[in-house]
This record gives sequence, C-alpha cells and structure tokens, in this order.
Amino acid sequence: VLLDPKYTSKKDELGRLGQTFNEMILFLQDTDQKQKQFVADASHELRTPLTVIESYASLLKRWGGNDPAVREEAIEAIHSESARLKSLITSLLKLAEVEREELMNCSDVELIPLVKQAAEQMEHAFQRQIELFCPDEEERPIVLCADREKLKQLLIILIDNAFKYSKEPVKIDISRVRHHVQLQIIDRGMGIPKDELPHLFERFYRVDKARGRGTGGTGLGLSIAKQIVTQHRGTIHIDSKIGVGTTVTIGFQQQK
Ligand code: ADP
Repeated sequence: VLLDPKYTSKKDELGRLGQTFNEMILFLQDTDQKQKQFVADASHELRTPLTVIESYASLLKRWGGNDPAVREEAIEAIHSESARLKSLITSLLKLAEVEREELMNCSDVELIPLVKQAAEQMEHAFQRQIELFCPDEEERPIVLCADREKLKQLLIILIDNAFKYSKEPVKIDISRVRHHVQLQIIDRGMGIPKDELPHLFERFYRVDKARGRGTGGTGLGLSIAKQIVTQHRGTIHIDSKIGVGTTVTIGFQQQK
C-alpha cells in the first residue's frame, strides 16, 4: 500500500507528505512484522517444554506402573520442564508489564540502599558474595527519579545473570560522574563472544541455547532490563570477553 514514487519524488509539499506517508506505512509494517515474530518465538518457546511434558506423561502412562526407572525419569523431566514453563510465563508477563506501563510510580529513590537490598536478596538466594564499591552515602546520597520496584527488578536480573554465568564473586561498582550516576555489575565468568554482543537485548536470545537451558535461562531477562532502563531514560551497555568476564554498565541521570 505504499504510494507510487511519482507522488513522493516531487520536492514540493505534496511530495513531502507522500514521503511521510510511506515512512509511516513502512514503520507500521515493521512493527507488525516484529509483533508476529514475537508471537511465533513465544509460541515456540512455550511449546518446547510442553511437548517434553506430554511425551513423558504418555511414557508414564504406558510403562510407569511396571518400571520404577522410567517412572523416576519421567517425573523428574515433567517436574523440571514444568518449572521452566512457569519461569517462561513469569518472564513473559513481566515483559508485557514493563512494555505496557509508562513510568507510573516515579519517586525519589536513594540508589545505594536499594542496591544493597537487591544485593542482599541475591546473596541469600545464591549463597554467594557480592563486593560493593560505592561513594559515601552519608555525605551525599545518590537520588534518582525512578520506579523503585522496576529499578530493583533491573538489579535483580543483572545480578542473577552475573551469578548464573560465573563462579567467582560478583562486584558492583557505583560512581558519580557530574549529574550522572554509573552502576557496573562485574563478573569474572565465562564471558560472551564478541559477535553475540549486539543481540543480547533481543527477546529470547540466548548465547548458546544449551548454556541457557542448563541455568534455567529464558532469554528474556536482558530485554526486560533494557525496557526498564529505557523507561528511566538511562543507558545500558555490555562489555565482555570470553573466559575473562562480563561488565554491564548502566547510566542514569541524577535527581539531586
Ligand atoms: P537468560 O534468562 O537466558 O539469562 P538474558 O536475556 O538475561 O536471558 O541473557 C541473554 C543471554 O546472554 C543469556 O542466555 C546468556 O547466554 C548471556 N549472558 C547474559 N548475561 C551474561 C553474563 N553476565 N555472563 C555471560 N553470559 C551472559
């Protein structure tokens, strides 16, 4: 439904209007295409564990009564694939939520206490240590205009990744650069190949599916993280080197 070039090539007002119309149509087509791709990807991701559950349930029905080994294997697989399904659905709902909402509950949030809270929660969950480096908060607190819950969710996604993909202690470094605040989450884990870096924020993207599956990854964490950062008008960047580790750098404008 694009306009014929004879209407858009002219340099006059009508030509410019035609060009704008065509740009709009191309934008809408692209958005529609992306939406369709997302639905196809989501369906595929949801169908995979369901197929495994279904086939193990059939196995259980047919042989489970006689063979304890089959029973054990089937129950184990059904259990782990159900957990995966649950985590996928939870992430999909989170993504839909962050994409739908504008910054609703924006208030002044003190960053360092929030980071400490998220870090403690994750240390407890993984039974591992985080080293935190930050400016003296007593002296001058770092205050952001933010949605507190979303910011915490962002921190949890990034710390979760750092723990999942490394074995060594994770470091969080907060610093102030004039009116900006920089937050880095640093791990010395397996790292990410250079050619994969541009794709990390795509939905369902996992560096290698086997690695993601083993850690229960859905490939949605960084898409959610990016969405949260964008809503806060911040920046997010990932540096990584295979075998050396990964650094995620987030930048925000300071409120005070
Ligand atoms: P997932 O739920 O699979 O972790 P993410 O969107 O959070 O999904 O991350 C996408 C992929 O990026 C992961 O599957 C993983 O392969 C890679 N990745 C993310 N963070 C790290 C990290 N800190 N170290 C190594 N690989 C990482």
